[in-house]
Amino acid sequence: MKGSIDFQALLRPTVRDLSPYVVEKIEHRIKMDANENPYPWPPDLLNRVMEKLERTHLNRYPDPSAEELRVLLAGKYEVRPSQIMVGNGSDELIQYILLAFGGAGVKTLSPVPTFAMYEIASQATGCEFIGVPLGLDFDLDLAAMRSAIEKEKPRILFLAYPNNPTGNCFRAESVEALLQEFEGIVVIDEAYFDFSRRSFLPRLKEQENLLIMRTLSKIGLAGLRVGIVIGQESLIQMISRVRLPYNLNTFSQVAAVVVLSEDDFIDGQLEILIAERERVFLALAAMKGILPYPSEANFILVRAEDSQRLFRELLSRGILVRSFGTSGPLRNHLRVTVGRPEENDLFLETAEGLFRKGGR
Ligand code: PMP
Repeated sequence: MKGSIDFQALLRPTVRDLSPYVVEKIEHRIKMDANENPYPWPPDLLNRVMEKLERTHLNRYPDPSAEELRVLLAGKYEVRPSQIMVGNGSDELIQYILLAFGGAGVKTLSPVPTFAMYEIASQATGCEFIGVPLGLDFDLDLAAMRSAIEKEKPRILFLAYPNNPTGNCFRAESVEALLQEFEGIVVIDEAYFDFSRRSFLPRLKEQENLLIMRTLSKIGLAGLRVGIVIGQESLIQMISRVRLPYNLNTFSQVAAVVVLSEDDFIDGQLEILIAERERVFLALAAMKGILPYPSEANFILVRAEDSQRLFRELLSRGILVRSFGTSGPLRNHLRVTVGRPEENDLFLETAEGLFRKGGR
């Protein structure tokens, strides 16, 4: 008789140590944990998406090349449609970049802490991930990056700009230096571009090793899962070789086109969120026992004495933020997504209840 199979032993070695990316489901009223846009869609918008959807055929496969969406995005970014690939969130595109250029024996490198998917997707695709600790003020430690690159010889560099969860944009000169020196692929992930308005996109023309990533998730379309990678046509062509044929579903393609064709309402929301980010930062900076870090994204990282008490206190008022726990480099840090003004008021009120005014 067949003995029992040790499936764990059958796993790829790099997957053996991985745990699934779990997003905990915690009861809450106010969601400030996942860096989404807090404003629901205007009521009419979904109707217009539905009207357009009625003219499409959901019995058919989606447009495999997402032509209409890519043409629209190309106009926005002032590149050719052939320089753009869209995917089921940037997450999928990160995986495609790794499938195309990574694999057994290939190393990838990022400053840390950063967005977790660079490491998870590296491991899942057989690469070895190297994390280089960030320096002072969460900026790039250029010397440490250079020596790690020299020693480890990674093939792919991931830089989140602004970085998640720290919220800052690294010094542009350091990013530029790496871009020019690195003999491999540099992925600059500008998921939070709409809040920083700083971009390396103009560098695409001269820099053939550069890939820029964007997403529609942070500006109010997270449920659609639309990620974007932009690069020189030759690189995009290479990544296309591993793309699944219909990776962006019809609903997301249609909805993204409708929303992006009439996205003026989003600009107003972004203005409010950026102003709110500054207001929340200043209010937190005026408290004792809590330290907010300056942010160019739609969230603020804070270090707090007794962070878990603050986390629980917030939750008892229905507010969910992201906690980084009590161990590791981000112990006692919380990441707070900027919400609507009234949500931020509630958050600040709770923090004020625990931390006295007159800090710093
Ligand atoms: N990049 C960064 C830096 C992020 O913080 C996130 C979302 N947390 C993503 C990419 C993922 O974006 P998407 O929703 O497009 O997969």
